[in-house]
Amino acid sequence: MTLQYVQNELTLHGHRLSDIAKEYGTPLFVYDETLIREQCRRFHQALTKSELNYTISYASKAFSSIQLFNLMAEENMGLDVVSEGELFTALQSTVPENRIHFHGNNKTNQEIKYAITSGVDYFVIDSLSEIDRLDALADRPVKAVLRINPGVEAHTHEFIQTGQENSKFGLSIKKGLALEGIKKIQSSSHIEFMGVHFHIGSQIFESTGTIATIHLVIDWLSENNIPIEVLNIGGGFSIKYTDDDVSYPIEEGIQAITDALKDACQRKDYPLPEISLEPGRSIVGAAGITLYEVGTIKEIPDVNYYVSIDGGMSDHIRTALYDAQYELKLVNRDEPHDKLMTIAGKLCESGDIIRRDIKLPSSIQSGDYLAVLSTGAYHYSMSSNYNQMLKPAVVFVSESGVREVIRRQTLEQLIQNEVLD
Ligand SMILES: *Cc1c(COP(=O)(O)O)cnc(C)c1O
Repeated sequence: MTLQYVQNELTLHGHRLSDIAKEYGTPLFVYDETLIREQCRRFHQALTKSELNYTISYASKAFSSIQLFNLMAEENMGLDVVSEGELFTALQSTVPENRIHFHGNNKTNQEIKYAITSGVDYFVIDSLSEIDRLDALADRPVKAVLRINPGVEAHTHEFIQTGQENSKFGLSIKKGLALEGIKKIQSSSHIEFMGVHFHIGSQIFESTGTIATIHLVIDWLSENNIPIEVLNIGGGFSIKYTDDDVSYPIEEGIQAITDALKDACQRKDYPLPEISLEPGRSIVGAAGITLYEVGTIKEIPDVNYYVSIDGGMSDHIRTALYDAQYELKLVNRDEPHDKLMTIAGKLCESGDIIRRDIKLPSSIQSGDYLAVLSTGAYHYSMSSNYNQMLKPAVVFVSESGVREVIRRQTLEQLIQNEVLD
């Protein structure tokens, strides 16, 4: 993100963030639209270079917004959705329905019918019973890939190749469920078997786990004589939240992954499938920041120095949820980070913290603006009305200007579903 201090003010593409905060109010999500596009293009370029057939679907759960989806359409991306609501939102955008994939480990019959009528490209089937339900509900041929559980789980610092059978997602290769699923799809009346899908984790910063999984899956398919048209390797590419993190090296990583796929297929004399990717966080995560206004400051001598902001876990749940770490910047002055403090939200939970023990300028006072960095993924989409907080507005910033893409919720909207008599 091209954030920089210009004349003592933090700016994005030449726009002062404090002006944006004043105009749209805080808390506010601000996205660098240019960076979102750049991330899409990096994936496209890396895949084009591989000369494989490919598709990229943006995992819409990371941040679901019609204007963002329109931007995804412009960048030649498809969409992954997992619920009626995500599908509904996607259908309001310019992304063609035949570039939408429907995911989920418990799709309701209503959702399946909705997805069939909408003309989504394919279903990512996640259980044996879903095959029966989809087959019964389909009044025309539908396409599907099967989500398998390869028994590999990637963590931030390692990947584990056994003992990850205990997952609510996918059908296990080792327990024979994946093969049973494929046979069942192949003998169904309305479902065309397109291939397999796996997603082995998130915040994956290198490719060894994915490469091992590709070999395992191609070997298994080839041994069982099952050709596929599509191999969907999911998402999970990491971004940098703090200096301790590494952002996934898209160019080298995709090259290594596509080389591994070619290699695995060549070794088994197995036909090369199309490869599909489903990045979410790596498309929007680093492109988003949250702006807050500072309110109360409370010093507990020898214990802590609390700076409270005008939002919290209603728009920033990942710290409470996973103890996620973030970098912050003072927006309206460029000063040395000389004082240890804790940035707290304003909601009624002790766990409502944005960041513990961070060094920021000692001059921070009520009325200043703070920016929390890398909040573009899983923040707005995980926001809630806890404490009847209003969901923030969202703006996109690029060289050509600032545009609001989601308005702040209103008090009326908070109570619009109340039944009063
Ligand atoms: C969450 C998810 C993704 C996206 O993950 P990111 O970490 O945001 O890239 C992709 N595919 C599936 C199946 C997912 O569940």
